[in-house]
Amino acid sequence: METVEIKIYADEQTNPNFICLGVLFLPIDKRKKLLQHLINIRCLFKKSNKWYWNYSDCPFKNECREEWHKLNNSEIHWKDLRDSRSSAAIKRISKNWLEFLIKNNKRDMGLIYFNLLYIELDKLDISRFGSKKEHENIYNKFFRTNLLYGIKTFFGNFSKVIIKRVYHDEASVRKHKYFPYLNLKKLEGLNYDKITVEDYNVKFLNSDHRTYLNGNRNFVDDCQLLQFIDLIIGATTQNIFYLSNDIFKKELAMIIRPLVERLLERPKNKNSSYHYYKKQHIGVFPKYKIDRAVKKMYRLNGTLMETFSKDLFYTNKKLKMPEFDPQQKTLSNNFWVKNDST
Ligand SMILES: [Zn+2]
Repeated sequence: METVEIKIYADEQTNPNFICLGVLFLPIDKRKKLLQHLINIRCLFKKSNKWYWNYSDCPFKNECREEWHKLNNSEIHWKDLRDSRSSAAIKRISKNWLEFLIKNNKRDMGLIYFNLLYIELDKLDISRFGSKKEHENIYNKFFRTNLLYGIKTFFGNFSKVIIKRVYHDEASVRKHKYFPYLNLKKLEGLNYDKITVEDYNVKFLNSDHRTYLNGNRNFVDDCQLLQFIDLIIGATTQNIFYLSNDIFKKELAMIIRPLVERLLERPKNKNSSYHYYKKQHIGVFPKYKIDRAVKKMYRLNGTLMETFSKDLFYTNKKLKMPEFDPQQKTLSNNFWVKNDST
């Protein structure tokens, strides 16, 4: 009768054509280690490999600089990243975070569990679902679907999963009236023998941790994890949907592309050198236009089922973003290089 305690960090990315619900599942006993890695990556001073939130605590005060600390102490936020506008510090940290994700996988460190679920709105005849309330119901249903899939797949070996708390970036959910409380209560109610939710109230945080530096330091840590899942969602979406032509976003997308490709093509490969099986997952819904989907669901039991039919979820989505070589941005101007090398 083994029990695992987890915390959950959720974020979303919306677009006229899809919603991505991204969830990071963090077992409590791995929390400290993952945070250490993410936070220390913020220190870009070569001689040090440990980050201090206050410059006054930095042991390299003669060589390190207060202004560097200020720059490294920024929010990492996918939406705001731009090749021309983002600081060198923000660029470095975002790259290193995604490189750390890959290192975690290649070395099978087992610190990072996530489930990304894409709902393709252009395949759903939304008008079928009518009112705003029904939209919210769809959102909530898929949020539960995401959590349930992650819990069953990633923590299936445990007889009990205790959700200590769910954290969400406050900016992205204000519109979802029914999101907190009832949703988690329902999740527990449907799986009461397996899942316990300790706190039904989702904790909404401003993902910019600087808000909390003089307050609750636990929230500073929680914000790192919200920023991390935001970055994973952004870089994955960039590969799949190719929303941005920004060079830096493409460069970031390329870092995790080998993982994204494998998750979409062979999600159940136990032998992958990326060790993602039962730790990370990307799902897409629905496989067919909802016309057929709805028919199917009606056929099954006469009414809309609580959970959408399993075969409507799929993974083998093609990447829209073409391969991108970051080195080429320097070479492309030197057209003579090409001629010279023939
Ligand atoms: Zn320093």
